[in-house]
Amino acid sequence: MRIFFILFLILFTLEFFSCQTPSTNVKNNLSKPKQTAMKLNCEKTDAEWKKQLTSEQYEILRLKGTERPGSGKYNSHFEKGIYTCAGCGSELFTNDQKFDSHCGWPSFDGNIAGEEKVKQIKDFSHGMIRTEIVCANCGGHLGHIFDDGPTSTGQRYCVNSLSLNFIKKTE
Ligand SMILES: [Zn+2]
Repeated sequence: MRIFFILFLILFTLEFFSCQTPSTNVKNNLSKPKQTAMKLNCEKTDAEWKKQLTSEQYEILRLKGTERPGSGKYNSHFEKGIYTCAGCGSELFTNDQKFDSHCGWPSFDGNIAGEEKVKQIKDFSHGMIRTEIVCANCGGHLGHIFDDGPTSTGQRYCVNSLSLNFIKKTE
């Protein structure tokens, strides 16, 4: 019995000292981004998102809401520039990818860098089978993607204006 006690003491001592790392290493470990199933680069708590976003943006981006059709500021917006994620600023769509779908929401026939920028997730909510699109950087809900697009890609990214910001191209 005594030998076990001594062994335990040795192991405990080793374990204790192995946790003592120089302060610089501790700092490096703390600065590493948290890993999740979707490997998000920009991860925040609900409280942080609520503080950063307007209540309308929070409803769409974080709670997967949908803005009323025709109500969004980018629905009939065709200036030259880049559409970014309203949550994290990731560049998602260009004005060249936007087309007038008459569906009531900003529509795009592609995105800037495929799945690297916009992730597709199967969505079985509201008794429908759809494909949700989210920002790959922060996980913010953008809208849904459909394969009835009128251009050569055949795709229609149906996006909420509230999920987007716009950076005008200066020439
Ligand atoms: Zn984002």
